[in-house]
Amino acid sequence: MSTLGIRPYSRGLNDLGAGNWAWLQPDGSWGWSNAGLVVDGDASLLVDTLFDLQLTGEMLSAMRANVPAARAIGRLVNTHSNGDHCNGNELVAGAEIIASAACAEEMAHENPAGMVAMQQGAAKMGDLGEFFLHCFGAFEFRGITQTLPTRTFDDALTLHVGDKRVELNCVGPAHTRGDVLVHVVDDGVVYTGDILFIEGHPIMWAGPVSNWLRACDAIIAMAPQQVVPGHGPITDVRGVRAVRDYLEYIRDEARARYDSGMSATDAAFDINLSDYSSWGDSERIAVNVATLYREFAGDTSAPNVPELFGLMTRIWKDRRSASRRPA
Ligand SMILES: [Zn+2]
Repeated sequence: MSTLGIRPYSRGLNDLGAGNWAWLQPDGSWGWSNAGLVVDGDASLLVDTLFDLQLTGEMLSAMRANVPAARAIGRLVNTHSNGDHCNGNELVAGAEIIASAACAEEMAHENPAGMVAMQQGAAKMGDLGEFFLHCFGAFEFRGITQTLPTRTFDDALTLHVGDKRVELNCVGPAHTRGDVLVHVVDDGVVYTGDILFIEGHPIMWAGPVSNWLRACDAIIAMAPQQVVPGHGPITDVRGVRAVRDYLEYIRDEARARYDSGMSATDAAFDINLSDYSSWGDSERIAVNVATLYREFAGDTSAPNVPELFGLMTRIWKDRRSASRRPA
């Protein structure tokens, strides 16, 4: 994996130079997201908050202690609507909160209270509950006051953080409906949100895959020096190409099975992921194949999230017991 241009992956604040910072949360699995901070003079821009208030609070304290401009964060960008990128928004409630219009719309339908109910009921939910706690058991969803964006844009928005030009580009729908890339143009830094998972399987809730491939191409065209993914270690264009290759691979593998009449569920079990065996969370193939199948069929309906969590649970259990079997 050294070919992916991956940097040392340590929890906490990572200095990218020239007023750009990344907050990393190894191992980048379910809910363990990255965030970013861009500063110039007294001006600051936070890229995403974290999954719960404690994690976000720890991050903000470390930023304030190390970066004077972070003591009063003026603006926050949410790269997309998933809770691991916005549940901590209330802790920077004085800031302008910026997102794509599609993200803001989607975020309004996400509800941290639903996660509390799932956590409380998980013990009685068998395998599904076990998988839910594997993904989300480490986080505290109680007490979160959902705090929505205060400013939205459709396709692109240019911000100035001090003298720095920061370009926001909406590249969704792909991972979610309103994914945004944050490009600090003069510093060669891109914060990608969940358009990139590095060393973990991407999860395509929305699609179409062509948008996600275009998003990868857009990042590569920026010729960045440093790329901060939504999950996983900091990388460069090599990491972007790896995700692009993965998406093309599963698109083609899913298409062949769709054309042969195989069901999406069977395809999710059947596709060989051995080239990606070092990447985490391979059960996400279930969501990716389901989204691809809907796309192939011209079906624009939303993903069936409970059903897909059920299928991911089956794949996760299967692979876990296979990996525990003596060779
Ligand atoms: Zn995420």
